[in-house]
Amino acid sequence: MFKLRSSSSLTAFPEYIDGPHPYLQLEQRQVPVEIKHSPRASRLKLRIDRQAGVVLILPLRASTKEGLAFLKRELPWVAEKIEKIPETIPFLPESKLPLLGTPHIIKHVPNERGLVWSEDCQIFVTGQIEHVPRRIKDWIKKAAKREITPRVLNYTAQLGVMHTGITLRDQKTRWGSCSSTGQLNFSWRLFLMPEFVLDYVVAHEVAHLRHMNHSAQFWGVVNGLNTDVKAAKKWLTRHGPEAHRYGP
Ligand SMILES: [Zn+2]
Repeated sequence: MFKLRSSSSLTAFPEYIDGPHPYLQLEQRQVPVEIKHSPRASRLKLRIDRQAGVVLILPLRASTKEGLAFLKRELPWVAEKIEKIPETIPFLPESKLPLLGTPHIIKHVPNERGLVWSEDCQIFVTGQIEHVPRRIKDWIKKAAKREITPRVLNYTAQLGVMHTGITLRDQKTRWGSCSSTGQLNFSWRLFLMPEFVLDYVVAHEVAHLRHMNHSAQFWGVVNGLNTDVKAAKKWLTRHGPEAHRYGP
């Protein structure tokens, strides 16, 4: 029997759209193209980056025109790579964000009073459209802190340990950390995960105030604080990377 090629190889090739912010249009997706001249590059190179999109790296002697011709030749390869990257979800109207795991849709209400609030699975944001992404991000950061702080207080009280402060960050490689001075750091992206996952990460970091390692004793403490350790770890392995899709 004649076998059809797999569906992925039948995908249309992306189209290169020039301008001050060039991008590739691949079906419904727009992927930014960043063009960089690098003194360290010895040949034309393409990199697909989860955050930046397509990065075209040119040696100093190569012209942008040569670079773009190279990019166009490589479009089938680029299309295949892009398809494997989960689509980014910007903090813009109509985007869906899973607040504590529950999908919420962003609604822009420019003429309402207030800043940002959530209600009935919707996130309302006021003001001009260009401020929407920043307002949403600030709001998520605050909401994450509001969820995390009482949990830290509860767990530190249970263990009889002290922390010196809580900061919310956007670290690429970890969801939380604990410094030797007792400073706890968490990713605001935890607010885009189910509650049991956020709770586990807090328990994990607070347990480090007792044991600055991942010894059996450390895990004993974590398990004493939180009953969902196994499920949460599994969730983070499987879905954690998706949390990086959201935002600017
Ligand atoms: Zn740890």
